Amino acid sequence: MFGLKTKPGYSAGQVLDADGFQLRLKVNARAKRISLRLDNKTGEAVVTAPRLRDLGQAVEFALTRRDWILGHLEKRTVAGLFQPDMDIPYLGSQLRLSHSGDRAAARLVGGVLSAGGDGEAYHRRIERFLRQAAKDFAETHTELYAQKLGTAGVTVSLFDAKGRWGSCTPGRKAIRYSWRLIMSDETVFSYVCAHEVAHLKHPDHSDRFWAEVEHLFGDYRPARQWLKTHGTALFGYGI
Ligand SMILES: [Zn+2]
Repeated sequence: MFGLKTKPGYSAGQVLDADGFQLRLKVNARAKRISLRLDNKTGEAVVTAPRLRDLGQAVEFALTRRDWILGHLEKRTVAGLFQPDMDIPYLGSQLRLSHSGDRAAARLVGGVLSAGGDGEAYHRRIERFLRQAAKDFAETHTELYAQKLGTAGVTVSLFDAKGRWGSCTPGRKAIRYSWRLIMSDETVFSYVCAHEVAHLKHPDHSDRFWAEVEHLFGDYRPARQWLKTHGTALFGYGI
């Protein structure tokens, strides 16, 4: 019935493959009864029995809770998705995500970003909104710094690569930004724009390059430090 037969001869520490989840068996003499929990680190279900000879009964018990276990494991795997009632960082402030009750694209009204759909569909609508906002911000600020540098016609696009914020191909006047910068703050995002624009003139990280960044942006050190300290957290969202 559950794809796993209860049989004698279970041992403490054993891990059973229980059709959709892993079940770890434990014996604890101080336990008063059979208990079941989920280990969030390993993703295993852990069933504990007071005595070795109760393990068979413990396995049976765990298998009757299969729906509960799978439901919780599913929640665990979608923890990185944008979901209604979540607060997300947005240009230095917070947006509250909500569900619009239809299948509409995301829209922002007074600090509340609402969209329709469920699960991944909802996530994608929120991400699409954030990407567009990132594109708008990046284009405006890239143009601003490019003008200051005395150049024009820079092409801006977005990408998503873990731990990378921007890249510049001076020969093609093409700059790409991580869309996740929209979840940092304005100063930080703006600094990355100045950084990449400065690469149009200096394709390296020489002293002359950093002097150019400072000329375009001002003191860039706090923004750079922010990315080092908080940047990784921005990669916690996504499929
Ligand atoms: Zn650089």
